[in-house]
This record gives sequence, C-alpha cells and structure tokens, in this order.
Amino acid sequence: MAVMATATADALSPAAREFVDSGPKRLLIGGEHAEAADGRTFETIDPATAEVICEVALGGSEDAARAAAAARGALEGPLRKLNAAKRSSLMYALAELIKANGAELAELESLDNGKPLAAAKGDIAATVNHLRYYAGWPTKIEGETIPVSARDVLCYTVREPVGVCAQIVPWNFPLLMGMWKVAPALAAGCPIVFKPAEQTPLTALRLGELALEAGFPEGALNVLTGDGTTGSALVDEPGVDKVAFTGSTEVGREIGAKCGRSLKRVTLELGGKSPNIILPDADLDRAIKGSYEGIYFNSGQACNAGSRLFVERDLFDEVTERLADYAREAKVGPGLDPDTQLGPLVSQEQFDRVKGYIDSGVQEGAELAAGGSPDSADGGGYFVEPTLFVGVEDSMRIAREEIFGPVLVAMPFDDLEEVARRANDTEYGLAAGLWTRDVSNAHKLASMLQAGNVYVNTWGGGDPAAPFGGYKASGIGREKGHANLDAYLETKTVWVQL
Ligand code: NAP
Ligand code: MG
Repeated sequence: MAVMATATADALSPAAREFVDSGPKRLLIGGEHAEAADGRTFETIDPATAEVICEVALGGSEDAARAAAAARGALEGPLRKLNAAKRSSLMYALAELIKANGAELAELESLDNGKPLAAAKGDIAATVNHLRYYAGWPTKIEGETIPVSARDVLCYTVREPVGVCAQIVPWNFPLLMGMWKVAPALAAGCPIVFKPAEQTPLTALRLGELALEAGFPEGALNVLTGDGTTGSALVDEPGVDKVAFTGSTEVGREIGAKCGRSLKRVTLELGGKSPNIILPDADLDRAIKGSYEGIYFNSGQACNAGSRLFVERDLFDEVTERLADYAREAKVGPGLDPDTQLGPLVSQEQFDRVKGYIDSGVQEGAELAAGGSPDSADGGGYFVEPTLFVGVEDSMRIAREEIFGPVLVAMPFDDLEEVARRANDTEYGLAAGLWTRDVSNAHKLASMLQAGNVYVNTWGGGDPAAPFGGYKASGIGREKGHANLDAYLETKTVWVQL
C-alpha cells in the first residue's frame, strides 16, 4: 500500500499550534482548569505518526465528584436563573464561536483523530448546525393543561431539566458526537460533565473554553478528560442524574446495567453491522459510489457504516469488481495532507483489532478482492487500506461482528424475502440501506428491515431534526430532533384545587 508522505503536526496553523504547545491539558471544572486530584495524566497520540501530541489530565472518581458538584451548583444557581430566551441566545453565541474557531477545531480534530482535514471541517460545520437547531428549542419547551375529570381542579404539566448529565462519547466524530449530546442538554437547561474519549480529548477542551467565552455560567459545561476508568467513575457518581453514552455495545451494556441499578436516566447509542442491499434494478453507478462511501467514510469508523453488502447474484461480480477498483485507487495518508481520502485508524488498539479481523476473514476462507494489508509503515501511523472480502459466509466473524474499520464483506442474494431475513439476522439494528428504482420494492424492503435508520438510494443522510438511533443491541433512545430533547426533560404534573 502506498501511504503518502507524512504531513504531521508541522502542518498546523498558528492557533492550533499554540493550543497544542500550551503545555499539558487540564480538566475543566466549574469554569477553572484543574489537574486531576491524584495528578495522573495520559498522552494523546497522532495516529498518522504514533507520536505524542501532548499530555492530558486523567480524571478519577474524586474529579468526577468535583465536576458533578460544580454542575449541581450551576443547575441550582445561575442556570436556573437563565430564562429560555437567554439560554437560546447563549447557544447561538456558542455556535458562532465554534464557527469562528472552526479552522483551529478542524485541525485539532484531524490531528487527534487522523481523519482528513476536509472531513474534519465537515464535522465542525455539522456541529454548528446541530447547535443552532437546538438553540431554537428553549423557547418552545411547553407544558400542557390537562382536562381532568375532578371538579374545580387546574391540572398542568411543566417540563424541567432532568438534572446533572454525564455525557460519554467516542473518538470517531469527537466534537460532533459531543454536540449531539451537549446541545439538547443545554437547550433543556441541564448542566453537563462531558467525558471525551482518551484518543481524542482536544476539541472537547476547546469546546468547554468556548462555552465560557460565550457566556455560559461556570459549571454548565465541565470537561473531564481521561480513559474508561474516568467514564466508569462518572457513571458511578451519585451526583449524576442522567447518563448519555455513545460507544461500544459491550460498554453500553455495562452502563445500562449500572443505570438500571441506580435508576439514573440513560440513553445509549451503540454499535452496528449494517446491511446494505443492491437490488437488480438499482442505478449501479449511484449504488456503487454510495456503497463505497457508506463503508469507507471515516476509514469505516462509523457506527452506521454499511459494512455488510448484499448484491443480487447476477450483479455480484460487476459490483464487487468496480468497488475493488475504487478501493485500490483510494489515497490513504495523514489527515493533514490535503490529498488524503482515508486517514489512519485512530489508535494502535483499533489497528490491531481491524488487522485481527482481516486475518480471521482469511483464515475462515473468505477471499480478498481489495486491500487486506494493514501497513504501519511511514512514520509508524495506523494505516489500513480499504479492504473488500468476497466468498463470505453469513456465519463468518467478519460478517457478524462490528469491525469498525475500512473492511467490507460482500455476499450475493437471490430474492427479497431471503435478503431481508439475512439482513435482519444480527444482534444490531442501527442502520440499513437499499438501492433500487422500484418504488414498491423500496417501501416494502424499508418496512421489513429492523433498523432505526433506513437509507434508500443514499447512505447516511442526516439532519439535526431527524431522529437517529438503534433497534435491538444498537441502543436505547434517540438522538437528534425533539426526541432527544425529551431525554433531557422531566415532566412534572401540578394539581391545583381551586
Ligand atoms: P468504548 O470503550 O465503548 O468507548 C466509548 C467511550 O466510553 C469512551 O469515552 C471511553 O473512554 C468510555 N468508556 C470506556 N469504558 C467505559 C466504562 N466502563 N464506563 C464508562 N465509560 C467507558 O469504545 P472503544 O474502546 O473506543 O472502541 C471499541 C469498539 O467500540 C470499536 O471497535 C467499535 O466497535 C465500537 N465503537 C462504537 C462507536 C459508535 O459510534 N457506536 C464509537 C466508538 C467505538 P476511553 O476511550 O477513554 O476508554
Ligand atoms: Mg475503550
């Protein structure tokens, strides 16, 4: 595989350079930067070179308690005093600040995560849009008057913030996944303790600073950097009322179980192994290009990646050959190199994991039609070329388990009922897609697929207003739209005897 010349942190603009060089990064609690109580730190790594970017504070349970207390203070003090219109205007102000600092944020994201700079810029633009969507909500959160049967009673409901929110996010879209959670919480008037992934803490820290600059009260948005132990401490923290998590199904189950015991409110956005189906009457150019993007975007590190491709048997060879051609032409390289189409994977751990899956596919007898050779050459980065397996059985690990890398498995099918059954034969249910010109088949198959998101003649369409979430083991609850606002509100029913 040809990995392009290394463009490293040297490519950063002065603003991003200054942030990186400004010394070890600290927690942000109650508006103040702070070391971890026990002084622990970790290193965040540039996945294009495997070199250290900077040191970051590693929060523990004492820090989780401090952050939750700061959030509680904000909830009971300044946040409560903010009226809805003011909350809305602060959110718009924050959106403007993110936009104004967008170039720096995109560079930090590309450096920390490895994604191409153009994709990181897209993430930042989507982050701004998301915040703007929810910034319109505070003034529209209304209760109801209830026509109860009792005489001389006024019964009404009030929507109130659910309380202190712990928000734990992964590394694949660090700031954007963060904003999916932060924006509805702020709209509802909830303070936040935000926990970015250990692989990608940088933009979260900038977000916390920008929230203060926008005028949010101290303690409204606290940032607790750290690792899985930090996230776990936050879930255990009694001062937290609600947990919102995006990440692996394994950790999601653990968090769900803990919140079940403590009766904290919880929403979970988890993994997927999403089926993508090309029917015989599809517009093939569109279907192939869309399917390629659907799996290889973000180097396959997306919860809704279209990772299981089903192609009608007569088209199978043509489709897989054309996909393999695209894959072979892809430019894999450092995110900060403007020619890069696929960046490195985020970490050594993900690199080893994806390599392990590729090896398991070969061992189980699948055939590599493209890619397959992970390559950590050229500066030690975690590069994996876009990989396509054919000759795949539904029972193979590569066809069943979430790989979370640029690895696609392709399988032929013969009819609609059969492909729907095979597509649904998974513990997951996050996304599913289909390509057809037949409107009847499109709706029929869309209704048969067990997934929270179904894409027809596209892959991954998204909007802040449109709910996103999973069936089955892909999660509980919905993000985006008014559905996610509800997850940050309690309903109080008030009875007044007149
Ligand atoms: P993960 O462990 O689920 O991490 C997600 C977030 O949860 C991170 O902030 C993580 O912190 C934190 N965390 C880890 N253990 C925790 C615990 N016991 N309690 C509370 N928080 C905890 O995901 P990962 O290890 O980065 O990736 C593993 C696999 O998860 C991937 O290969 C992929 O299959 C899946 N994944 C899915 C998504 C998605 O969007 N659905 C995103 C990322 C990964 P640290 O990162 O600091 O450990
Ligand atoms: Mg982890």
